[in-house]
Amino acid sequence: MKAPKDQHFLVDADAVALIADTIPVAGRKVLEIGPGGGVLTAALLARGATVRAVELDGSLLPNLEQRFAGQLASGQLQIIRGDASKVPLPEFELVVANLPYSISSKITFRLLETGFESAVLMYQLEFGKRMIAPPGNGEYGRLSVMAQTYADVEMILELPPEAFSPPPEVWSIVVKITPHEPPVPIRDRSVHAVLVRELFSHRRKTIRNGLRGMQSIYGTAVMTNLTEALPAELLDKRPEMLSVTDFIDLSNRLSVLRV
Ligand code: SAM
Repeated sequence: MKAPKDQHFLVDADAVALIADTIPVAGRKVLEIGPGGGVLTAALLARGATVRAVELDGSLLPNLEQRFAGQLASGQLQIIRGDASKVPLPEFELVVANLPYSISSKITFRLLETGFESAVLMYQLEFGKRMIAPPGNGEYGRLSVMAQTYADVEMILELPPEAFSPPPEVWSIVVKITPHEPPVPIRDRSVHAVLVRELFSHRRKTIRNGLRGMQSIYGTAVMTNLTEALPAELLDKRPEMLSVTDFIDLSNRLSVLRV
């Protein structure tokens, strides 16, 4: 197997402790993605967590197996070799991980679909900022709406390249994610996901023009009926001005019209 990228190991001991202490892990089943050299794994185990770690790079396993032989034998730690965006995931309640940045988006949505109580995840700074951006902010987009529809996302800390060895070219951010039900029930989650994707694929277009662009997906009649039922004030806005609830309202109206 080809060695994976994204191997920047955290060497800032204070940051390791802060990440491991953000949510109480004692006695809980914690999923770790990409344990690497095991720095965060060790901190989680020391705090009494039961850790299920998924690591893609098999060449890192002998070191992990040697370092954590006792915890592996007792079952406090289990190491699964594979791609965390694809392998069947073990049972878990919490997620704590310094993620490989190349799978940030895929793994985040996979975790949200799977369901968990709380997660502390490290991302590339720009990605994390997009997750927490509010409406009207230049970084507010598809990722912000989808993440904030299904979870509270809170910034914990930002880390410079020097916190890692070797240092990456980018800054990093640690966020806490707490899933919740959408603020308003969503009639059809796939319609909602398509609507958010399509409207943000042309973020300079007004909602009126963005909805017109969706005629190829839902048909001219449905999209015309939807547009006619909406206030001009909303149709003249750009997607970055719409709140999470506005997107749900819009998708619920579309879901009703298309049946
Ligand atoms: N947790 C360690 C730390 O904090 O020092 C390592 C973090 S490093 C940024 C990312 C880790 O994820 C590496 O060990 C890398 O081999 C692993 N990795 C990369 N792609 C992966 C994937 N698709 N699934 C699971 N692990 C992956």
